[in-house]
Amino acid sequence: MLFHSTRGGDKDKDFASILMQGLADDGGLFMPDQWPQVDLKKIKGLQSFVEVAKEIVPLFTASSFTQEETIKIVENTWHDFEHQDLVGIQTIENISVLELFHGPTAAFKDFGLQLAAAFFNEVLEKEDKTAIVLGATSGDTGSAAIDACRSYARIKSFIMLPNGNMSEVQRRQMSTIEAENVFALRINGTFDDCQDLVKQAFIQRDFLKPDQYLLAVNSINWTRIVGQICYYFFAYNRLANHQNLNFSIPTGNFGNVFACYSAFKMGLPIKTISVAVNNNDILHRFFASNDYSKKQVHETISPSMDISVASNFERLVYDFFLDRSTSKCAELFNNFPNQGIELDEAT
Ligand SMILES: *Cc1c(COP(=O)(O)O)cnc(C)c1O
Repeated sequence: MLFHSTRGGDKDKDFASILMQGLADDGGLFMPDQWPQVDLKKIKGLQSFVEVAKEIVPLFTASSFTQEETIKIVENTWHDFEHQDLVGIQTIENISVLELFHGPTAAFKDFGLQLAAAFFNEVLEKEDKTAIVLGATSGDTGSAAIDACRSYARIKSFIMLPNGNMSEVQRRQMSTIEAENVFALRINGTFDDCQDLVKQAFIQRDFLKPDQYLLAVNSINWTRIVGQICYYFFAYNRLANHQNLNFSIPTGNFGNVFACYSAFKMGLPIKTISVAVNNNDILHRFFASNDYSKKQVHETISPSMDISVASNFERLVYDFFLDRSTSKCAELFNNFPNQGIELDEAT
C-alpha cells in the first residue's frame, strides 16, 4: 500500500515517509492509493480493541514495516487507559455511546497520537535519528501529543498554547509534566498565532540539527486517522447484531469524521454519518448549501471544535465528491481560502 497527495504532487510514497512528512509538498493531504478491504466476519469474532487494531493497522503500514513489527507496535502502543477495553460502549435501547475518553488525557486524540508516536519512535530507532515535534494547540491535541511522546527519549516536544480560551485542566496537563523532553510554550496571542509560528518554523527549519526530523502532530497526519479507524471497527465488533450503523460525530478538523468515512470505504456497513458542529459552521454551510468559505473563528465552550476551516475535509472532497481527481482537487484547494469552494451540481 503506497500513498499519494490529494493534489497530485507526491506519489508512490511509503508509509514511513508520509508518517514523518505529515503534509505533502504540494500542500495536499496524503491518501492511500486504494481502500484496503476488511473481512467483517473476522472482525466480529475478535476479543478486544487491540485485536481489532491488529487487523486494521498493518493494512496501511506494510510498505515500511513487516506484519510482525507492526503487531508488536500495536500491542505496545496504547498505554495508561483506565478501561480494560480502551473504548467503553454504553447502550440505551438502540442508541449507543462510544466512550473515547478513557485514555491518559481524556481526549479521543490519545488513540491517534499514541499510535503515531510509537511509529515515529520506531523509524527514529531504525535510522538512528532524533526528532522535534512542533505543534499548536487549543487544548486536546497538545496534551495528547505531549503524553504520547514523553516516554521516547529521541523525541523532544514543543507545544505552543494560546493565552486564552483553554481549560485549566488542559493548561495544567501540559505545563506540569516533569519530563526533560517536553516544553509547553505559552504564546501571547490566539490559537491562530500559535499555528502561524508553527508554520513559519516548518518553512525555516534552520534550527534543526543534521539527522533531526521536524514532525507535525496536527490531525492531517494519516497515522492519526488509522488509530481512529480502529474504534469504528471495534464498535462494529461489539454491536455487530445491528445491521446498519449510524454515527453522529462532533467535528473540528474533520479527522474523526474522516476516519469513520474511511472505515465505511473499507467495508464497514454504515448507513449515515452525521457531522455535528458548533457556532463555527463551515461544514454545516457546505452540506446544507454548498458553501465552503472561510469565516472568522468564534470562541465557544468547545475550543477543540473552534476552527475556521476543516483541514481533513480536503480528503473527503477528493475521494467522495471529485472521484479522486487530483487536478480538480488541486484547482479547488490551491485557490482556497481566497476563493471559497462550491462544487458543480453534477458532483
Ligand atoms: C479534537 C476534538 C474535536 C475535533 O475533532 P476533529 O477530528 O478535529 O474533527 C472535537 N471534540 C473534541 C473533544 C476533541 O478533542
